[in-house]
Amino acid sequence: MNQKAHCVKCLLQEIDEEEYLSKLKRVILMMKASERASDEETNRRLLICKQCDYLERGTCLACGCYVELRSAMRHGKCPYKKWTLNK
Ligand code: SF4
Repeated sequence: MNQKAHCVKCLLQEIDEEEYLSKLKRVILMMKASERASDEETNRRLLICKQCDYLERGTCLACGCYVELRSAMRHGKCPYKKWTLNK
């Protein structure tokens, strides 16, 4: 097994990006269905993030969140209200 240790003191530059993305996807999949936004809603939000000047390498520079994680959360919110829950 070729797995780097993961600690809370690691910088992103010290983490294998592929492994990190894989962990991020696993966290999203482990969310309860009631806590997760639909795929359609998540994609709608991400399209808005993709147009936003605050997006940099998957991170929202306005709040520091990983937009793929935040957008997958049913009650996730954009700090600038560019997207909210689309009921
Ligand atoms: S969460 Fe909001 S402010 Fe952050 S990148 Fe997405 S649209 Fe922009």
